[in-house]
Amino acid sequence: MAEPTEVNEVCSRANDSREWLREDRERRSDLLDGIAAALDARRDEILVTCSQETGLTPAELAPEFARMVDTLRVFARAVREGSWVRAAIDRPRAVPADSIGPNHDVRRMLVPVDGVVAVFGASNFPLAYGVCGGDTASALGAGCSVVVKEHPAHPKTGRLLHDIAASVVKEKKSGDLLGYVGNEDPRDLSVAKSLVEHDHTAAVGFTGSRSGGMALDGLARNREKPIPVFAEMGSANRVVICRSALARRGTQIAAELAASIVARHGQQCTKPGLIVLEQDQRAGPAFVAELARLLDAAPPRRMLSQRVTDEYVEKCRRLRGIPLVTRATQREDPEVVVRGERRTVPMLFASMDEARGNLDALQMFTPDGRGYWLNEEVFGPAAVVIGSDGWENFYYADPALVTTVYAEPDDFSDLVDDEEFGIPSQPAFRVRQAIRTTGRFTFNSVPTGVRVAHAMVHGGPFPATNRPDTTAVGPFAIERWCRPVCFQNCPQELLPPELQDSNPLGIMRIVDGEWTRAAIGA
Ligand code: NAP
Repeated sequence: MAEPTEVNEVCSRANDSREWLREDRERRSDLLDGIAAALDARRDEILVTCSQETGLTPAELAPEFARMVDTLRVFARAVREGSWVRAAIDRPRAVPADSIGPNHDVRRMLVPVDGVVAVFGASNFPLAYGVCGGDTASALGAGCSVVVKEHPAHPKTGRLLHDIAASVVKEKKSGDLLGYVGNEDPRDLSVAKSLVEHDHTAAVGFTGSRSGGMALDGLARNREKPIPVFAEMGSANRVVICRSALARRGTQIAAELAASIVARHGQQCTKPGLIVLEQDQRAGPAFVAELARLLDAAPPRRMLSQRVTDEYVEKCRRLRGIPLVTRATQREDPEVVVRGERRTVPMLFASMDEARGNLDALQMFTPDGRGYWLNEEVFGPAAVVIGSDGWENFYYADPALVTTVYAEPDDFSDLVDDEEFGIPSQPAFRVRQAIRTTGRFTFNSVPTGVRVAHAMVHGGPFPATNRPDTTAVGPFAIERWCRPVCFQNCPQELLPPELQDSNPLGIMRIVDGEWTRAAIGA
């Protein structure tokens, strides 16, 4: 366990090292590439350690390992190329009357926040969101030193990753710019608190539960000097299966969704959670039976931690106890004991008769009178199917990281009800409704599997994240650790290279309103 004094020492050393990072973008890229290469060299050891601690298989962890090292390299490339700083230059107008406000020369770009980025990873992605995951890679790329808080569900993996990355940092004689604080006891929140409240902490990257993210956000807001928290949290991802798609490809869709639900034993923030079927008297029950059959075929597995197991079991039992919800899978209880160890099994619940796609239908009550929202995240291999009148659910359901629609072309023309209520009937309008409440809209493809690319958005409105203006995945994630700064009437020799007339780095800039790589005056 880390004492507050240890947090203080680690934060202070990381803060003292940040100038080394800021000075030179090539240096930052080399560091990121160096960490990726060092991790590659110890791949097998990392996979074995991580598998032993998490219960995820090496085959499940291998793509995550590849994503971790690729992400480090993606940021190395973005930083080396340089255009990510979003440089903009507006020179004085030749005819001053044309300009709004004083006719100054103004130039802006992104600069790193001044201090340390504290990183909290999640239990379910020990590599991609861990010590050397996307938050660390993007923060180092931006020019911020980092302190990672250990996740109590995988301390050995965390320490191994940190040792490997720290040896690269040491080789570069760059100080202690990647710190790590231990925290083996999940009940001990003092480490998290001291890290968020530390004077040198300038921003927080969090991946995990809604309760954890909001707790850290509260701590950060209540500091004397509040700081931003970028919390990627959990939500129930929605899948809508339209009438024709259900009738024509119900069996195939059930197979795709079953595979997506049981992958990594359902412990994914992108797992399908709430499956909405456009009402169809025959295809609906057949789909539920097929999905349940496939989930029943999956073996019991160990979960990531005791707490994750407890919560999964508790939520499934609550769902099972709701009068209007039926259990579609065979196994009565989510928990089984195998050779003295706790295991859990996939579960499917259905509410086909009463749920008609409005807010009331999503709120159910247990016999003891407690409310339960069918669109609450159940972290683990469980899903809820509801029958509905259609896409209207998008108006009511809580926002989610991902919204998926399975549809055939004629599903878009079945809009009689909408027109009756005076709602525009174009397909584009339906898509607009869908994206009101989601970060990523997937069409005829499962929500699991996140590509690391410029066009990716891994985020969305609350509760998917507390910062819907950002993404946690892809090169744009670097902007979370930056702020824009403007230079007014500044001599060339005092400007950073990104903003000098000659554009020595050859980056893409907006000069007088036009995108260009050209030097000014060339
Ligand atoms: P978690 O329990 O919230 O833990 C994440 C980290 O936050 C841990 O280090 C934890 O430390 C700390 N923490 C949690 N509650 C805290 C509090 N009240 N005060 C201070 N620190 C706190 O999450 P998890 O169980 O590891 O991960 C599963 C959840 O993450 C799921 O809901 C999943 O959907 C979500 N997730 C989201 C994404 C995404 O990108 N949106 C990705 C992966 C996972 P302690 O254990 O010591 O409390």
